[in-house]
Amino acid sequence: MIQFIDVQKTYPNGTIALQNVNLNIEQGEFVAVIGLSGAGKSTLIRCINRMHDITGGRLIVDDVEVTRLRGKQIRRFRRRIGMIFQSFNLVTRTTVIKNVLVSFVPDLPLWRKLTGLFTKEQKIKALEALDKVGILDKAYVRVDQLSGGQQQRVALARTLAQNPDIILADEPIASLDPVTSRMVMNDFKRINQEMNISVIMNIHHVEVALEYADRIIGIRKGEVVFDGESRRVTKEI
Ligand code: ADP
Ligand code: ADP
Repeated sequence: MIQFIDVQKTYPNGTIALQNVNLNIEQGEFVAVIGLSGAGKSTLIRCINRMHDITGGRLIVDDVEVTRLRGKQIRRFRRRIGMIFQSFNLVTRTTVIKNVLVSFVPDLPLWRKLTGLFTKEQKIKALEALDKVGILDKAYVRVDQLSGGQQQRVALARTLAQNPDIILADEPIASLDPVTSRMVMNDFKRINQEMNISVIMNIHHVEVALEYADRIIGIRKGEVVFDGESRRVTKEI
């Protein structure tokens, strides 16, 4: 469902971030992208939802040629792809449930989203999403009163509320302690297994990647140097 064909990405300043990338990722896979800092992990993930444009080759998601999407089509396309960041990207001075509800009104400016009225159905959906990540009891708490782990789960709930087929996660546990990291990884794993949502995640903790992901993609200097099942990973990557 996600196909990279000879993908290249060169930034405007000349940095070659990806080259000769060929990948095929099926629905329901849990993939960890590993590699040193600067290897191209984040670029690879961000090309999938067109946060970055590829500069060569082809990228196909669900039969859609990603480079051909324009304006409104890009926004609609992104609705099917959840994105989770290291820094959570939440509005911290409002409640957890508001942060989830904003995912139902993607095209409004943020201030209008936050003051918007939501239907009962939307609220139920938001609460269900919070329940899936174990923080239903925090629904009416302000985000800035939550721990880092809880905030990342709010971000995950916000993404789930939009019913994505794919969740992209860019270093989701990089700012969390080891214990909290495992809780968040367990949430990803559960979502992947129970809802068949594909998870593609950048991670620099190799041991955690091996433990949770089914498939590892190793990149070095913009090129895929390993692609296979986690249990086949050898020391040299
Ligand atoms: P990783 O996620 O593995 O740390 P990145 O994908 O962030 O790697 O970066 C890959 C390479 O592209 C690095 O050399 C980085 O400095 C460069 N790079 C990333 N973003 C930009 C940008 N916006 N402009 C120019 N170079 C960039
Ligand atoms: P912190 O982020 O401060 O480390 P957490 O919010 O991760 O704390 O965890 C607080 C409590 O909630 C812990 O006792 C943990 O056992 C429980 N917990 C954390 N994640 C989940 C989850 N996904 N499902 C159920 N319980 C959880």
